[in-house]
Amino acid sequence: MRQSLLLTVVVSLTALGALAAAQPEVPPGALVTWPGEGITRCGMSGDKWDPLAGACWYAVDLLAPAGTLELGRWVGGALETRRVRVAEYPYPVQHIQLADDSRVELSAADLARVGRENALIGGLWSRRGEARFRLPLTAPLERLPEGGRFGARRVFNGQPRSPHSGADYGAPNGAAVRAAADGEVALTGDFFFAGRSVFLDHGDGLVTMYFHLSRVDVEQGAQVDRGQTIGAVGQSGRATGPHLHFAARWRGARVDPALLLAPAGVVEIR
Ligand SMILES: [Zn+2]
Repeated sequence: MRQSLLLTVVVSLTALGALAAAQPEVPPGALVTWPGEGITRCGMSGDKWDPLAGACWYAVDLLAPAGTLELGRWVGGALETRRVRVAEYPYPVQHIQLADDSRVELSAADLARVGRENALIGGLWSRRGEARFRLPLTAPLERLPEGGRFGARRVFNGQPRSPHSGADYGAPNGAAVRAAADGEVALTGDFFFAGRSVFLDHGDGLVTMYFHLSRVDVEQGAQVDRGQTIGAVGQSGRATGPHLHFAARWRGARVDPALLLAPAGVVEIR
């Protein structure tokens, strides 16, 4: 009896040690997947959702604080958990000089406009429909160049501003911008910072965004197909040159959109 109890303690300690060693570290904005057989639900931070293509997907917000994050999933009614460590904010500072200072030091009227726009946009993050996409998503440009600067802490004309929550892809003015997946046009508009923009809802809380367009080809409420042209590259809003700012929120979390296009950087849990 005594011997078997001791054995149990030894096994538990070994299991704990293995868990700690296996606890992966992820940057804020990361995407984590935990595949397996018979998963019925997934959960994190009080939120629960259905698995997608046989796996749980966890979006770690760009502004998630450093620390431990507990991931859950239900298999045959039993809850299983894993932990990942969110790393300290690893992204560099990016200095940007704008000729037009009025898009950095906002007038009272512009501040009020930005407040109204943010409220409108913020309403999109709670949308939860049936998933209408699969990963990887379709690239939003036919020829997708190197993109990036995701997460960079931005300093405009010497003033610190929000970190960059999308990826910027340089492209010529007028290049076709395509829907990354089937979805509904959740919002379009001409916004102070984002310029002419399209927000697509793909279900399961996934929203993709296309900013600084020269032209918007779709109307709010329309259904679009994966790969359909939804607008054209431009430099409307706060932009220093023609490019596509492509961004995504998944269940509210700002994730690096490049991970949705080429999931090589997705962290897989076993
Ligand atoms: Zn951008």
